[in-house]
Amino acid sequence: MRAALVLCLLGSCSLPEEQPLSEYKFTESHMGTKVGVTLYAPSPEKADEAAHAAFAEIAAIDARMSDYKPESELSRLSASAGSGPQKVSLELLEVLTASQHYSELSGGAFDVTVGHLVRLWRRARKERRMPSPEELRTAIVMTGSKNLRLDPAARTAELAKSGMILDLGAIAKGYACDRALAVLARHGLTSAFVDTGGGMALGDPPPGRPGWRIRVADTEQILVLSRCGVSTSGDWDQFVILDGKRYSHIVDPSTGLGLTRRELVTVLAPDGMSADALSTTISVLGPERGLRLAEDLPGVEAWMRWEEAGRPCTATTPGFTRKK
Ligand code: ADP
Ligand code: MG
Repeated sequence: MRAALVLCLLGSCSLPEEQPLSEYKFTESHMGTKVGVTLYAPSPEKADEAAHAAFAEIAAIDARMSDYKPESELSRLSASAGSGPQKVSLELLEVLTASQHYSELSGGAFDVTVGHLVRLWRRARKERRMPSPEELRTAIVMTGSKNLRLDPAARTAELAKSGMILDLGAIAKGYACDRALAVLARHGLTSAFVDTGGGMALGDPPPGRPGWRIRVADTEQILVLSRCGVSTSGDWDQFVILDGKRYSHIVDPSTGLGLTRRELVTVLAPDGMSADALSTTISVLGPERGLRLAEDLPGVEAWMRWEEAGRPCTATTPGFTRKK
């Protein structure tokens, strides 16, 4: 009797055997780019189900925040410019609030009201034609984060000037990576990373390893990282050459011009959204001001390469190399 009781207790106490985790990789096209999900799961079914949910989350964020889709919540907000405060979703409010934060931190170098300028430079790339001074002036007048007013209590956003256009191209992909990672965690899969090309969010390390091996921009340098965001911005794939000058798809809101410095920036930050916003911000600010800003921010490190008189220069925040 006693022996039976002991056995029974032992039986009920024994932990279910842990299933070994294997690596699974998925790719889908979203937000105008290839999105990769890498995760560790106990079975292919678990992996499929979680990845499917993560991609659905990214698709939902794109449907809300794309400036290419006229029906997106973002496009509807832009269309309401000049007609007072509009109710917005918590998600959009969160991204707009973060955007305003980076705009303030950077003295306006990061600015999601750059929609007009971005469209002008998209056309310049397509038609290989410099925007006219008049077009640039008009687009600059339509830009300025002080004309984006948020009221978190009322959950509203207002574009104070009619004709203003919002563009979340520098921040929404990072946010989507964070949200997708959170979806995977809700499915019990925390060893994962989500990658949208330039920007990524990393969860827990792969089982038994210290972190994910991430290459810095196009260098040979490998960092071993986890639970953070990484983003690279650079003018190396989207640009137009006009009168011998190379203009990037990232614009300086103060001049209205696409960036002309050839530069590449990799940012490490506590999450994907911050990394995404900061890599664009630092690109606009340039090496000196940009790296100083990164150094001042907790949990942020940056690496940068640019050209000076045709020669490549590299610099990092002091803490960057300690990440190796
Ligand atoms: P990518 O998305 O190409 O990897 P970024 O994250 O740097 O690169 O974002 C660039 C995009 O951000 C541009 O295509 C445009 O939509 C938007 N953008 C351009 N200039 C700015 C700026 N000064 N502030 C905020 N967003 C910008
Ligand atoms: Mg960015």
